[in-house]
Amino acid sequence: MQCSIVVAIPNGRYRGFYECVGSLLMSLMEANQAISISALQHYIYCPRQCGLIHVAQVWSENLHTQKGRREHDRVDVPEYELKAGVRIERALPVWSEKLGLTGKCDVVEFHADGSVYPVEYKHGPRKKGLHDDIQLCAQAICLEEMLDVSIAEGAIYHVKSRRRRKVALDDGLRLKLIETVQSVRAMNASQTVPKPEFGKHCEQCSLQDICMPDVQKVGLNLFDPLEV
Ligand code: SF4
Repeated sequence: MQCSIVVAIPNGRYRGFYECVGSLLMSLMEANQAISISALQHYIYCPRQCGLIHVAQVWSENLHTQKGRREHDRVDVPEYELKAGVRIERALPVWSEKLGLTGKCDVVEFHADGSVYPVEYKHGPRKKGLHDDIQLCAQAICLEEMLDVSIAEGAIYHVKSRRRRKVALDDGLRLKLIETVQSVRAMNASQTVPKPEFGKHCEQCSLQDICMPDVQKVGLNLFDPLEV
């Protein structure tokens, strides 16, 4: 991708133009096979889940995904408000030309001192693993590139407990993000769905019935062609 655009901090007057540029760039990037930020989150949660959704294009809802979608609907309407001197943008489209990413931020706060603070909404309590942090980090990296700013921290807002968990966007997390982008790109290029890794993370996965990780595990134990 050749073009390089630095987008000014959006305000009410320019929001329409900003979204227009965003959707145009995103469709151009999608044509160049940009990765959605949600794919990175899925990959960290479970590479097979990512492959099933983004390579095999299958999807299924369960209680957890329905609850999550309901909570997200509240922040999925593009709008902004001013609160105590902080400009709060919702459902803000973001992208990174450098990493080839596209996505949307639930909330981005623009503070009077010039700092930019992304907040990702999650309906449940904190889950083990880095998947939510990687999603937030990817959003921050997009905002940094778009707005020409540095973002050292963001937060995950857990709707049920109404708590914000601060996330330091440090070098370790950024490195993990880049590794994940490379893994997802390799998976997309090979068009293969990774094998299941049966574990605790399967309990909340809406794709269990399609993936059948326990059955596959038993099947693999029953017959291993390499052992014949
Ligand atoms: S059921 Fe388990 S192994 Fe299968 S996609 Fe979901 S989390 Fe991954």
